[in-house]
Amino acid sequence: MTARSGRHFLQIPGPTNVPDRVLQAIARPTIDHRGPDFAEFTFDLTTRLKPVFGTRESIVAYPSSGTGAWEAALVNTLSPGDRVLAFETGHFASLWRDMAERLGLTVDFVPGDWRHGADPAILAEKLAADTAYEIAAVMVVHNETSTGVTSRIPEIRAAIDEARHPALLLVDTISSLGSIDYRHDEWGVDVTVGCSQKGLMLPPGLGFNAISEKALVAATRSRLPKSYWDWTPMLDNNERGFYPYTPATNLLYGLREALLMLEEEGLANVFARHRRHAAATRAAVHGWGLEVLCVDAREYSGSLTAVLLDEQYDADKVRRIILERYDMSLGTGLGRLAGRVFRIGHLGDFNDLMLAGTLSGVQMGLELAGVTVDPAGLQAALAVLRAD
Ligand SMILES: *Cc1c(COP(=O)(O)O)cnc(C)c1O
Repeated sequence: MTARSGRHFLQIPGPTNVPDRVLQAIARPTIDHRGPDFAEFTFDLTTRLKPVFGTRESIVAYPSSGTGAWEAALVNTLSPGDRVLAFETGHFASLWRDMAERLGLTVDFVPGDWRHGADPAILAEKLAADTAYEIAAVMVVHNETSTGVTSRIPEIRAAIDEARHPALLLVDTISSLGSIDYRHDEWGVDVTVGCSQKGLMLPPGLGFNAISEKALVAATRSRLPKSYWDWTPMLDNNERGFYPYTPATNLLYGLREALLMLEEEGLANVFARHRRHAAATRAAVHGWGLEVLCVDAREYSGSLTAVLLDEQYDADKVRRIILERYDMSLGTGLGRLAGRVFRIGHLGDFNDLMLAGTLSGVQMGLELAGVTVDPAGLQAALAVLRAD
């Protein structure tokens, strides 16, 4: 490996750059997770975490990746053979579908072109046709990290309400939590799935479920096998400030620091910053003469942008050149988008000049890879950053 100076640019859409404050908080000595100090710490942490989910309801935190929190959402609310409805918005939605099938659920997977979010009109049709109320849950990925498309959860909720359908609404907010506006309570979400390493600016290792009252009732009837993921012992212990097994103590220290940072900036400002960086990134992409994968302006992601290249180019070659020359990691094309797109993560601990540096590296890398781009793209992005 060649010696590198300066900081690596980690511009994948998660894990994201971990701020020094968070790293320092994680470096504190580990304490007794069954002692009185820990209980105090847990209560404070839970209070600070709730606004990020937009909830006053229960939140549980697992020592896990996001995938674990996906499983927790399913096994706590559903029973073998239950029908669930999901939308093929991209790679992550497909993985969650696969998991549901492996767990013994019957998934009605609405096909998609990986350039749009979940369609509220199709949901309305599916629910209207389900007069026997067989659909037990609707699963939606809020921000599809493989495509940079954000589904319109309030419209999904409205479709369920208009159909007066009792299905639970399960939402993956893994790459939107702490970077794109999200409201568990107001949007009537039953289980929100989150994790630590994206908008929350932490290393990987914490998975979350925010749980509605309705989901808690569903949990009492759910018959899918569960042990590690079981909400009941988790919620019982949390009530006293503890966990049924060893929590990721030091990551929780980091979480507290990250939550303080979000409080200091103000969540509304955090979301506005992400929207602005996303707008500047799209200005660059369009200015270069390239295509943003997301085609509906209502669904542009605030946390990442997937750039679609012409078939003659290899997006992974562009990424490789950028990594070798400029020490910057970009997201690869996942699943059916392999080689066709690269993804620019602009979420988490990020500012204007980090974005300017990122887009400079992307422009130079595209040029080095022989992709025809108009260098006015970078100027267009800087103009957005200068304007407000
Ligand atoms: C990253 C991601 C996941 C998977 O999370 P892991 O921590 O890798 O298990 C799931 N859904 C979305 C939308 C993601 O961005």
